[in-house]
Amino acid sequence: MRRVLCPGSFDPVTNGHLDIISRASNLYDEVVVGVLINISKQSLFSVDERVEMMREVTKDYGNVKVDKFHGLTVDYCRQHDIPVIVRGLRAVSDFDYELQIAQMNHRMAGVETLFMATNPLYAFLSSSLMKEVVKYGGDISGLVPEVIHQRLVERLRGEK
Ligand code: ADP
Repeated sequence: MRRVLCPGSFDPVTNGHLDIISRASNLYDEVVVGVLINISKQSLFSVDERVEMMREVTKDYGNVKVDKFHGLTVDYCRQHDIPVIVRGLRAVSDFDYELQIAQMNHRMAGVETLFMATNPLYAFLSSSLMKEVVKYGGDISGLVPEVIHQRLVERLRGEK
């Protein structure tokens, strides 16, 4: 079985993430979305909430599994027999950092990283921008799934 890991914080998942995950799901037998437990980074949603939201919005793909992990991404790959990581590239600003991590991961464990060019419709999207816009009352419809939009509004504006 050909498997690929899509790792990230997904705090919360956006249509940019989903675009990469769905395109990867067309290329591989199974996509494992690895939601990172990062104790040094403050997140808006707990890791279990991020996993639950990711499961909800990927349930129709059929071959996407969602899991959480901490520590080195390559350790997760080794433990679960996943030889490839896919990462989305939005702009050159993503590139320096991503290249460095990809080279380190290859050196540590022989794990390959494939980069997927973002859909230009979503190139400007990031989870942090979505949070910022919602916090101050802006409209992000069409940029995140509707259920995620509602969760963001509830969490950031205290509304139901
Ligand atoms: P991290 O904290 O690891 O950067 P993110 O949740 O921000 O995690 O992103 C996870 C993955 O999704 C990364 O490969 C990132 O480049 C990609 N990504 C984030 N936003 C977009 C987007 N708008 N379009 C395509 N890929 C994206």
